[in-house]
Amino acid sequence: MFNRIKQLRDNLNKYAYNYYVLDNPLISDYEYDKLYKELEALEKEHPELITPDSPTQRVGGISTGFKEHKHKYRLYSLDNTYNADELRKWYERVRKECPGKVELVCELKIDGLAIALTYKDGFFIQGVTRGDGIVGEDITPNLKTIKAIPLKLFTPADVEVRGEIYMPKTSFEKLNEESLQKGEKVFANPRNAAAGSLRQLDSSITAKRDLSMFTYTAIIEKADESPRTHWDSIQFIKKLGFKTNPHIRLVDDIEGAIQFCKDWETKRFELDYATDGVVIKVNMLDYQNELGFTSRAPKWATAFKFPPEEISTKLLDIELGVGKTGAITPVAVLEPVNLAGSVVSRASLHNFDEIKRLDVRIGDRVLIKKAAEIIPKVIKVSDTEEHNNLPLYQTPEVCPECHSKLVTREGEVNLYCENPECPAILKAKLEYWVSKEAMDIDFIGPQVISQLFDLELVKYPVDFYKLTYDDFLKLDLVKDKSATNMYNSIQESRNKSLAKFITALSIKMVGKETADILVSEIPSIEEIKNASVETLSAIDGIGDKIAKSIYEYFHDENNLKMLNELKNLGFKFENTAQNRTNELEGKTFVLTGTLQTMTRDEAGDKIKMKGGKTSSSVSKKTSYVVAGASPGSKLDKAEQLGVIILNEDEFLKLIGGN
Ligand code: NAD
Repeated sequence: MFNRIKQLRDNLNKYAYNYYVLDNPLISDYEYDKLYKELEALEKEHPELITPDSPTQRVGGISTGFKEHKHKYRLYSLDNTYNADELRKWYERVRKECPGKVELVCELKIDGLAIALTYKDGFFIQGVTRGDGIVGEDITPNLKTIKAIPLKLFTPADVEVRGEIYMPKTSFEKLNEESLQKGEKVFANPRNAAAGSLRQLDSSITAKRDLSMFTYTAIIEKADESPRTHWDSIQFIKKLGFKTNPHIRLVDDIEGAIQFCKDWETKRFELDYATDGVVIKVNMLDYQNELGFTSRAPKWATAFKFPPEEISTKLLDIELGVGKTGAITPVAVLEPVNLAGSVVSRASLHNFDEIKRLDVRIGDRVLIKKAAEIIPKVIKVSDTEEHNNLPLYQTPEVCPECHSKLVTREGEVNLYCENPECPAILKAKLEYWVSKEAMDIDFIGPQVISQLFDLELVKYPVDFYKLTYDDFLKLDLVKDKSATNMYNSIQESRNKSLAKFITALSIKMVGKETADILVSEIPSIEEIKNASVETLSAIDGIGDKIAKSIYEYFHDENNLKMLNELKNLGFKFENTAQNRTNELEGKTFVLTGTLQTMTRDEAGDKIKMKGGKTSSSVSKKTSYVVAGASPGSKLDKAEQLGVIILNEDEFLKLIGGN
C-alpha cells in the first residue's frame, strides 16, 4: 500500500511537471485523472500516509521563471467526474445545504490556462497565471498582446476577472505545421501551445501567436452593479467589454445539466477551440458563499469531463501507404482502443521526419489523439523503460509496392516513389479520378478499381471509357444491375465540368480550388495547354510553383496523348464557364453546416458560376456566411464580426434557385 501510494505520488508529480512546466504531457488527461483518483481513494483510506507534496494537496501549476505574485483572492481547481451519477450525487450534497430550488449554470470547460486580471478604475493593471492558486506568475506584458483582453473597460470598475486563455484549433494546427517545416518542437495540443506561447519571455513572440480569452468570473470590488447570480455576473462581464463563451445555459436542476453535457459531447468538435468538459455552477451567489470551498476546489461547482480525445496504446506496426503523387505515408497500426466513442486501430504518423522527431519505435506505447472527422494521430511516445530496448525505426529506402528507390524533393519532407508505372500510384490516381471531388463516378469504388486493375482492364483513367458492359460482369458478385449502373455512371462522367476534369488529372499541387481558379480565368483546355508559365502565374491564387507544374503537365507527351485519346472517346471538355454570369462579382461566401438541397461543394460551384468566390474562413472581408444545419464556429465568428448570415432559403433566392 505504502509503495503504491509513493509510486502514484512520484509518477503524478513527474506527469504534472511535464504538463505544467514543460508543456509536454507524457500521458493523456484521462489516464492522469484515473491515477489521481486512485491516489485520492488510497489516501482517504490511509490519511496518515498523505505527504505535503502529494498532488492531491495542491492546485495545478508550478512556477517557471516569471516574477511571482501572490493572488489577492485564491484561485481554486475544480473537482471532476466522467460520470453522470456522480454529478447527481454532487447535486444531492448541494441540495442538503441549500433550501429550495437550486438552479445551475452550465458552461463549456475551455481547455486552456486560467488567468486572473486586475482592473482599477476600469484600467488593466496586472495579469497573473493561476500557478498553485496562491502564488502565480505576473505575465502582464504578454497578456497585453491578446486582443480579447480589454486594456480599458466600457465602464469604470475595480474588479478581478478570471478566464481561460486558449489558442484556436486552426491556429494551433498552423503553428505546428510551420514548426514542423522549420524542424522545431511541435506542441501536443492547443492547451500546451497556448501555455507555451504565454510563457515566452519575449512578448513579441506571444503577440504573433493567435491567443484569445473567454472570461467566466468577476470578483467585484467597486462597480455600478452587484449581480446576485452567476448568470447575471456573466452578463455584467460582457457589459464591461470581455468576451464570454456564448454556449452557456441556465437549468433548473442536475438533469438539465446532464442534458447539456450530453448535447456537447459531440457538438464540441464543431468548435474551433478545445473543450474538455462542462463546468456546472450553482447560480445563486448567496448559495455559493454558503457552500464554500474544500482545500482545493469550490463545493458549489463541479466539472463533467468528456470521454477522452487522447489515450495511449501499443504501436504494433508501421504500414506504408503510397499516394497518387507517389508520396509515401507512414500509418501506425495500433492495438485497438476506445477513443472518443469509437474503436481506433490505425493512426496517422504524418511523415518520416515526424517519426524520427518523436523517436517512434515499433512496440512503443504511444499517445494518440482524435478530433471529430480528423483521423487520429500519434502525438507522442510514452516514456517507458521498454522504449530504450526497442530497435530504432529504419526509414524505408524503397517503395513498398514496386521497390523503386525512394527520393526526397527539394523543400519537402516527404519521401516519394517516382516510378510512373508503380501499381500503387496508378491505383491511387484511378481512385482519385472517380472520387466526389474529381469526376464523381458513383458506382466505382476502390474495390472495383482494384479488381479492374488486377484483371488488366484499367490502368489509366482513359481506360474507364473503353470498358464495355460485359467487362463489368467479369468482376466478383457483379450482376446485370450493378454492371449497368457502373457502365452508365462512367459514361455520364464525360459531361462533368472542365474544373472537375482538371482536378481529376492529379496534376502536382493542383487540387479542386486551384482547378476552379484556373478554369475561371482560362475557360478552355486548348488555351490552358498553350498558356506560358508567366500567363499562368499571373493568375491571382496561382503561384510560380503551381504555374510551372501545370505547364509541365500539359507539355508532357504522355499526358497530351491521353488528352487526345479522351477527346476521341467523346470528351468535350465542357466549358461551364460559358454560362457564367457576374452578378456576385466581388462577393465572398463562407459555407458552414449541412445544406438540405445540395452539398457545400455544389453550393460553391453555383457561387462561382455567378462570379462570386468562396473562402474557408470568416473575416471582415466575407460578404455572406451561408449557414446550413449544425453550423460550426464560423457562424459564431460571423456574428461577432457582423457578417450577413443567410439560411439556405435566402441563399437559394440569392443565387436564383428555388
Ligand atoms: P482542471 O483543468 O481539471 O479544472 C479547473 C480549471 O478549469 C480552472 O482552473 C479553469 O482554468 C478551468 N476552466 C475552464 N473553463 C472554465 C469555466 N467555464 N469555469 C470555471 N473554470 C473553468 O484542473 P486543473 O487543476 O487546472 O488541472 C488538473 C487537470 O489537468 C487534471 O484533471 C488533468 O486532466 C490535467 N493534467 C494532466 C496531466 C497530464 O500529464 N496529462 C498532468 C497534470 C494535470
